Amino acid sequence: MSTTLAFAAQNPETPLAPMEIQRRAVGPDDVAIDILYCGVCHSDLHTARNEWNNTLYPSVPGHEIVGKVTAVGSNVSSFKVGDVAGVGCMVDSCRHCASCSESLEQYCESGFTGTYNGPVFGGENTFGGYSQHIVVDQRFVLQIRHSAEQLAAVAPLLCAGITTYSPLRQWKVGPGQKVGIVGLGGLGHMGVKIAAAMGAHVVLFTTSPNKRDDALRLGASEVVVSKSADEMAAHAGSFDFILNTVAAPHDLNPFLNLLKRDATLCLVGAPDSPHPPADVFGLIFKRRRIAGSLIGGIAETQEMLDFCAEHGIVSDIEMIPMQAINEAYERMLKSDVKYRFVIDMASLG
Ligand code: NAP
Ligand code: ZN
Ligand code: ZN
Repeated sequence: MSTTLAFAAQNPETPLAPMEIQRRAVGPDDVAIDILYCGVCHSDLHTARNEWNNTLYPSVPGHEIVGKVTAVGSNVSSFKVGDVAGVGCMVDSCRHCASCSESLEQYCESGFTGTYNGPVFGGENTFGGYSQHIVVDQRFVLQIRHSAEQLAAVAPLLCAGITTYSPLRQWKVGPGQKVGIVGLGGLGHMGVKIAAAMGAHVVLFTTSPNKRDDALRLGASEVVVSKSADEMAAHAGSFDFILNTVAAPHDLNPFLNLLKRDATLCLVGAPDSPHPPADVFGLIFKRRRIAGSLIGGIAETQEMLDFCAEHGIVSDIEMIPMQAINEAYERMLKSDVKYRFVIDMASLG
């Protein structure tokens, strides 16, 4: 065991504050990592504040981790001391169910073990990346092929990148398709970059008119302010696929009406209360679909990292010291971040 300094929430109300935690000794299959950077996902905030009613306290969030390998177990050959490595949302799964056998560990039938907040179906708590050090089984550690100067901006790929890449791949997004991304936050801005790199015609839907220029710079071909009924009506029935990243409950029907026959609205945003009901007639008259998608498997996460390295894709980030996390949460709630906070872990000392 080793002691590591972390930032933790002790309950839903009080700010995150320093806390010492224990990491396990490095086992034969483990990779020990000194954390350089950790992205700040909206799921961290949902968890720290118990918005999904499943938080185990104390809670150390953080699942967009990039760091340097400091030790490896005797069975580890794909990482060596000094390598740069990544850790995303999962640190374990059952490894033998149908989903795990298909490299879809995120849908593990026993529930994957989250990098923080423990196994999704309950069990001992795990502590995430708002900390100096982590020990993870090699099967859940990713290779980073971006350049050294890009590492801070690579961290958000480990959740925001894979959560958008996976559904874009699943629904075979590519050239000749009109694809919508709803919400220009951490996930949304990665969705715009990745869908554009896949060759799609990307339309960004936002509630923030001041994000228009950024969306175009990030790769969108068009921007629609979703509060404008006229702007929305101009796109009725024209989309092959829409990916909705919004972190709050809202009416899905205006987006459903934009789908072509047989097209899909995929939800990745995970609000703390349900969306209003979808209009059944809007679905059945055009055989439209509402779907969901959860992060991505480990093999697909590696594929995404390699795709992003090849296409020069990283996140647009604002670096913060660990001590600024509570203020960063408040700004994230106001959509006041371009477009992902990343914690510089050197600030923990
Ligand atoms: P974020 O950076 O806060 O972005 C969310 C965006 O949603 C905002 O930038 C905003 O974009 C839009 N939005 C519109 N109305 C909003 C409202 N009332 N409250 C908040 N946002 C509003 O969050 P994120 O890190 O991208 O995460 C988005 C959601 O995905 C969260 O619920 C998170 O827990 C979830 N998530 C799911 C998965 C998965 O596997 N399915 C993985 C990671 C995260 P505009 O200003 O452009 O309108
Ligand atoms: Zn996340
Ligand atoms: Zn499994």
